[in-house]
Amino acid sequence: MISSSILEESLKSGRTGVNFPEGLMETGENPLVTVRTGTPIPKALIHQKYGAKALYRTEEVKESVENECPGLVIPQKSKPLYRCCLELPEFSITSDTFTRKKDAEQSAAKMAIEKLGIQPMRNNLTVEEIWDELVSRLSYLFTDEKFLLSSHPLSSHFRAALQREGNLCGSVPISILAACDVKLINLCKSIDLKSELNPYFTISLIMKAARLSGSIRVSEGELWIWRLNPPSSEIMQTYSDINSGSTEHVQMEAILIPNSMEKAVETVTLNISSKEYYLDVIAQKLGVMDCSRVLVSRTVGKASSEMRLYFPAPEDPSLVSDLSLELLSPANETFSQGTSFNVRASYFSGQNIHGDVLLASVGHKWKSPDLYHEDVSLGTYYRMLIGRVPDGNYKLSREAILAADLPITFTTRSNWRGSLPRDLLCMFCRQHRLSEPVFSTESTDTSGPPSQMVKTSKRLKSSKSNEETEIGNGLIDAGNVESGIHSSFGCELKILSKSQDVVIQYSTEDSCRKQSDAIQIASLKVLTWLKKYFKELDMPVEKLSSLGNVHGIYIDAQNFSKEFALCASVHSVPQKMVFRKCSSLGGLPCGDQSDAKQGHGANLFNVEGEDSGISPTTGSLACVSYMVSLSREGKYVGEPLESKDEFEFEIGTGAVIHQLESCVTQMSVNQATRFVTEMPSKDLVLAAAGEAAKDLSPLSLGSIPVTEGCCLEYSVKLLRVTEPLEDRIEQALFNPPLSKQRVEYALRHINESHASTLVDFGCGSGSLLDSLLEHPTALEEIVGVDISRKGLTRAAKIIHSKLSVASDPGMQYASIRSAVLFDGSITDFDSRLYGFDIGTCLEVIEHMQEDQACMFGDVALGMFCPRILIVSTPNYEYNPILQRNSPLNKDEDPEEKSQPQSFKFRNHDHKFEWTREQFNSWASNLASKHNYSVEFGGVGGTAGVEPGFASQIAVFRRNTQHQADECAAKGDPVQPYEVIWEWTNSKSRSAL
Ligand code: SAH
Ligand code: MG
Repeated sequence: MISSSILEESLKSGRTGVNFPEGLMETGENPLVTVRTGTPIPKALIHQKYGAKALYRTEEVKESVENECPGLVIPQKSKPLYRCCLELPEFSITSDTFTRKKDAEQSAAKMAIEKLGIQPMRNNLTVEEIWDELVSRLSYLFTDEKFLLSSHPLSSHFRAALQREGNLCGSVPISILAACDVKLINLCKSIDLKSELNPYFTISLIMKAARLSGSIRVSEGELWIWRLNPPSSEIMQTYSDINSGSTEHVQMEAILIPNSMEKAVETVTLNISSKEYYLDVIAQKLGVMDCSRVLVSRTVGKASSEMRLYFPAPEDPSLVSDLSLELLSPANETFSQGTSFNVRASYFSGQNIHGDVLLASVGHKWKSPDLYHEDVSLGTYYRMLIGRVPDGNYKLSREAILAADLPITFTTRSNWRGSLPRDLLCMFCRQHRLSEPVFSTESTDTSGPPSQMVKTSKRLKSSKSNEETEIGNGLIDAGNVESGIHSSFGCELKILSKSQDVVIQYSTEDSCRKQSDAIQIASLKVLTWLKKYFKELDMPVEKLSSLGNVHGIYIDAQNFSKEFALCASVHSVPQKMVFRKCSSLGGLPCGDQSDAKQGHGANLFNVEGEDSGISPTTGSLACVSYMVSLSREGKYVGEPLESKDEFEFEIGTGAVIHQLESCVTQMSVNQATRFVTEMPSKDLVLAAAGEAAKDLSPLSLGSIPVTEGCCLEYSVKLLRVTEPLEDRIEQALFNPPLSKQRVEYALRHINESHASTLVDFGCGSGSLLDSLLEHPTALEEIVGVDISRKGLTRAAKIIHSKLSVASDPGMQYASIRSAVLFDGSITDFDSRLYGFDIGTCLEVIEHMQEDQACMFGDVALGMFCPRILIVSTPNYEYNPILQRNSPLNKDEDPEEKSQPQSFKFRNHDHKFEWTREQFNSWASNLASKHNYSVEFGGVGGTAGVEPGFASQIAVFRRNTQHQADECAAKGDPVQPYEVIWEWTNSKSRSAL
């Protein structure tokens, strides 16, 4: 019946697959009704498969932003946002946030469908039947009078068309049909997938179908379409009634994206009077003849928005008839010859867009006769831009564009702030029109020697992979806890193109205790690598793959360059605006990363406020308030760019720019300071600037030296510190806190043994040494060793202030003659610490790899040879009690709660946690090897009662017949440790 070249082509290629179109969520259809054309919408599909077993839970996400900084106005809207969690028998999935609940639900359903790999049923329509559907859909739209009164967004366009005077009365631009009617869009896509890429091609399909129908008029050579019979007078009457009700003058901001990359984007204002059709106004702005020559992209930006790209139809249609995005590659000849493609706009929509383009958020929504519109500011544009770089969405989700950085490590879910790595990666893939990432996890049960390792779980089928189906395999069952068996997980991650070609592939080692963590870690790894790539987009393909290899990431260079073709042109616009070295304000080195990376050495700077003694350490959560402003020669320029009253991040994971972390770790609660950094990329600055972006817009022109000599100045105040998880649990569940009990345990032994010399191996911030000074002992010489400068600096501060207060005979620590802190590894021997009376090593060995812990045992007993050595470490078997009762678990995610059998380590820095048996065998072997006796005890819990103490402790004693010269190293002057701080009692010195 229908014969056209397009049809034949499609039949040949056999492409009738259907993808969900963007903007589908806007249909507002009853989810349980299958669209007549055979493309069910997401919730309907989920309903078909799961019925009542699919549970939608929608929650409101607070996004309100208050601002307490006086004199500061940061314009930020606060409207309710919704997120939907869809629970299916196999897994649950959470949507992004939307302004409407039902969008969140559809989005969750859509994500689930993608995850399940369900293909919507096409009811096996042939291409011919699809053409029939297309024709009948068009006829319906143009002949059914009731449709004119429906709540479909198109009906407003029909109304506007009927308002037109002269012979264009009733004419509708085909482009609006091709953009607003989901059914038409889907049908066109089923005929030829090219339609998804090329709005102009979709128009040609619709035109063809209109000609095939007898009831619609299409103008030759023009892009109008209209009905043959005008609607009845009643309808016309209703129309004028509706219109008289909704007459409002609209003024809105839009963005002009010039075709030339040389030209910066700029804000334009659209003035739409009550009598005007908004597309006519857009046509005028674009300088085209009439609105039929305005092409309309799919929606870009958030799924719930009406943000679209408007651009002129090509004068020469042959030019666009068979274009694909691949042609946009800079490597392609057509591209280099300078085409009319608008690279930035094409990148945003994933469609072929040409000419100067208007980005506007305007249009008709379902069920509302009023014109919907929203300003698109420069800030919005730049946020969309940075949302497309690998770490951009992290910064956006933290609402801290200038302060946040994508963390380099994933520790725990409860410590992670902002969108999770997996979600960030999924979003990144969606935005770059790749398939959803495929995760397959694999677990290994480890118990005893490595030879007994068993691979227990099979790889999931990639098409149906999902992270939770195998949870059962990932659990440690209660019986296993005692025998020390635990599972660990690895994750294989694949990123495929829309046509299912492998683009990136990566596998982690099987080292995660939780399946979902393995997925997060793999996602973060790939994101981090992508971030590196986006920093150097002109990287040659060979370098790309070899750089990937170094990180264990496989990249298919060809597919990769094809998929990321546009990124180079869009994102490698000169990034740094100003290269001036900032004079540092208050002495914090800026632009010098090497210093901060080492974790110490960033100079102390001018800090305001008393030292409260409470400072963040690795793993703790720091909460700060901050404000970032543009400043020149120490003076602020313009409005602040970004500020937050409360911003929490985990120390040690790189979750913020390094200058901020380096500065915060040197502050204590209630202190404030300022530092400056070089100007980051203009995208970041403008994205952060919000409304202020307008004032800064000359900045985007590059040539106008508004920012010359400018720096970003950060003022920061440390509001509070939340201790690492372990400490919080210990304080919450034990009275006195476990750490205090450990100190008391050590004290008993110190006093019983009348020790006069003590070394604390792994002293950290000196909590033991500090507490010792609170009690009367016979100690004369105390030493601490640690590898963390930060810890040692803090220890030095605390002990120094205590010891220097007074060394009156009345003081508890009057006996102390000297105190020293060494920077060094306790697996190295230093002869200055040979033969001490007592050595303590509390909660340290689990922070080392197991072989290092063994090495420490050998060095301590075989070389340092203290009379007594006290070693404590967590008892893994006690974790169930801690984690079940922990008051902290209430803010943990429900997924973690639903796995009561999986016990994590108490601190993410722990490399292992031993059962009693493991600890006993380590200690007993060590003791017998080095001629020591060993005795076991602990704190928290009761001896002999399952599952033992919370902290298990071994007390080693040198055997009396142990000859001092058995120690291999007694007198050799080996001194690898570095003195960090030293104190000697001046009175005792003068007495000498
Ligand atoms: N003993 C302290 C600190 C425990 S935290 C207390 O009970 O509060 C563990 C400490 O071990 C950290 O400060 C860490 O820096 C230190 N550490 C880890 N490996 C070390 C090594 N090889 N040598 C010295 N210290 C080490
Ligand atoms: Mg510990």
